[in-house]
Amino acid sequence: MDTSTIVAWMRLADAAIKAERYHLVALDAAIGDGDHGTNMARGFDAVVAALADGADATPGQALTRAGRTLVSTVGGASGPLWGTAFRRAGRHLGDAPTFDGASLADALQEAVAGVVAIGGAGVGDKTMLDALAPAVAALRLEIAANGSLAAALRAATEAAEAGARATVPLPARKGRASYLGERSIGHQDPGATSTVLIIRALAQAAAG
Ligand code: ADP
Ligand code: MG
Repeated sequence: MDTSTIVAWMRLADAAIKAERYHLVALDAAIGDGDHGTNMARGFDAVVAALADGADATPGQALTRAGRTLVSTVGGASGPLWGTAFRRAGRHLGDAPTFDGASLADALQEAVAGVVAIGGAGVGDKTMLDALAPAVAALRLEIAANGSLAAALRAATEAAEAGARATVPLPARKGRASYLGERSIGHQDPGATSTVLIIRALAQAAAG
């Protein structure tokens, strides 16, 4: 995998978010302020536009620029959260021209650490972390067990889907939805839902 894998990932994520934009808005309208689909669509549009000039020589540089772009274009919580995630992952990939499954898994573990560091959430707080953390854990486990990258990314996508579904019965403890307390129970977290789209896009991009 190389820089083109990252560019393809961002394009596929952008397309999936656009297709699900109004679903994400509806989920956020139920337990937040209804802007999640708009925030993510605006951010990933800007990322795709930023990467289109082909100026990023390495996958690490492309991811870092994607992260910076999200921070500067998204007003909601998801901008700094995903922005930090991509920047941390990009920094981990460094200046290498290519990356393999093991370094991808380690880079995404850095992304999880970044989200925890700036957002202070844990798994079970009904946030994007409920999808991202189990996805990355599944990816690392499968890669370490010598599974193929495609199989590992399939497992990661399934773990993200299960994690997002598991947010439904939880009360939110972080972010805007936490202001609702128990009234957030019964709704799927919007950020966990868009995280599934981003992980699935990565699986598709890695498959070529
Ligand atoms: P805002 O809440 O500022 O309107 P968005 O609607 O774009 O921003 O994003 C909301 C999503 O952000 C939530 O559904 C949740 O998944 C995620 N989120 C909010 N706060 C945190 C946090 N502290 N840690 C991790 N994720 C969070
Ligand atoms: Mg919102």
